Amino acid sequence: MTRGARGAGATDVIVIGAGHSGLAMSGFLSANSVEHVVLERGEVANSWRHERWDSLRLLTPNWQSRLPDYCYEGADPDGFMTMPEVIRFIARYAGFVGAPVRTATTVRAVRQDGEGFCVVTDQREWRCRAVVMAGGAHGIANLPPLAAALPAAVRSLTSKEYRRPGQLDDGGVLVVGASATGVQLADEIRASGREVVLAAGEHIRMPRVYRGRDVQWWLTAAGILDQRFDQVEDLVRARRIPSPQLVGTPSRATLDLNALTDRGVNIVGRVVGVNAGKVQFSGTLRNECAMADLKQGRMLDAFDALAERSAFTAALEPVQRPAPTRVPEMPRLALDLARERIRTVIWATGFRPDFSWLQAPVFDAKGRLRHHGGIVAPGLYVLGLNFMRRRKSSFMHGAEDDVRELGTHLLGHLERVPEHAIRQNPDERVAASK
Ligand SMILES: Cc1cc2nc3c(=O)[nH]c(=O)nc-3n(C[C@H](O)[C@H](O)[C@H](O)COP(=O)(O)OP(=O)(O)OC[C@H]3O[C@@H](n4cnc5c(N)ncnc54)[C@H](O)[C@@H]3O)c2cc1C
Repeated sequence: MTRGARGAGATDVIVIGAGHSGLAMSGFLSANSVEHVVLERGEVANSWRHERWDSLRLLTPNWQSRLPDYCYEGADPDGFMTMPEVIRFIARYAGFVGAPVRTATTVRAVRQDGEGFCVVTDQREWRCRAVVMAGGAHGIANLPPLAAALPAAVRSLTSKEYRRPGQLDDGGVLVVGASATGVQLADEIRASGREVVLAAGEHIRMPRVYRGRDVQWWLTAAGILDQRFDQVEDLVRARRIPSPQLVGTPSRATLDLNALTDRGVNIVGRVVGVNAGKVQFSGTLRNECAMADLKQGRMLDAFDALAERSAFTAALEPVQRPAPTRVPEMPRLALDLARERIRTVIWATGFRPDFSWLQAPVFDAKGRLRHHGGIVAPGLYVLGLNFMRRRKSSFMHGAEDDVRELGTHLLGHLERVPEHAIRQNPDERVAASK
């Protein structure tokens, strides 16, 4: 099939989003001679350019940063990419696969159109036989309803809006959420000299390095990142597991609640209420920490067991377990924002994908997209969601397997749906009748 054979406005596949997922699918489609376009509302790697804080580095090591037929080739495989490096890495990949990206094109609606789809953008309408939604898993920052009860004098920011400590008003900061984002922001803001309170609910503890190897090496060796969506008992739960307390820095230091306590961050329980200028915290901090310690211990047990039955055990450092989380005897249960000069609250409370433009009966009662490992409906696919096909699905290195499998499924769909299933674009009809 030659590019543009059917004229403008019609193609076989529309890919929405030019992050790494959409670009990897584009590479697969090109390798299989499938005509397609990639529609991107901003620029290639837009999320990394515009939706992350300045100091962020990947928490996955460089050796793990790979896409189909493309990997990190620099001198520091154990390092962690900065944002400019990630942007360059992905932009170069777009060139490597020759992705036909239409930038500054926002998809406003996708709906079924006969056996194909109609894709409405702010530029024009498209007709196609299949759609791949690669708009990212982090489209909307989760903000609990109680955020609305904060006093007007306190600035409320999501982690997507936070860029650097200098952007904050003077005074203390309450960071809500102690997963990867929350612990990293609490650490950076505390280092800028501010008082920081960190509200921790359920969280996942992980040492950066265990027995001399990076934790991502262990997770890979133990097959944990390759676990499939159809092999876990409780998939809904697995998809909701928070990101681990992990940071990628040149020092390869562990960033857990103990490290933050040592630096003067005040750890409290989950936020359960906001009332009359006071924030209330759950009394379950001790339990949450005990649970995180227990789960970390089980994970390290599994790593040790793996080492026992493997040849590399001799090359490892001796077993040394992280200390249990230190929890204050009486964790505070309330914070008077004005009295304690807390001027900013940052919500590091997770994200959800944005499918507000998808006009199809493919959502469950809670508004979540229904899909079977990324297959949403005939000809409709999604990429890059948490634990979509595998535990690694939302990570860069997870795209390769998912794209290969979903791309193969998509090729089968194209064989079944005839080319004339794409109804003519109204624009084309007008042009043809002149
Ligand atoms: C703080 C943070 C840290 C992370 N750290 C790591 C890490 O260390 N290692 C790792 O592997 N992964 C990491 N991830 C996860 C993951 O790699 C990223 O979320 C990644 O950006 C997902 O890639 P993607 O291509 O699926 O989506 P995105 O990169 O989000 O790309 C989606 C693209 O779709 C576009 N788009 C969205 N809606 C529309 C629309 N309606 N019309 C047109 N275009 C649209 C967006 O502009 C964007 O360019 C991190 C994520 C976050 C949030």
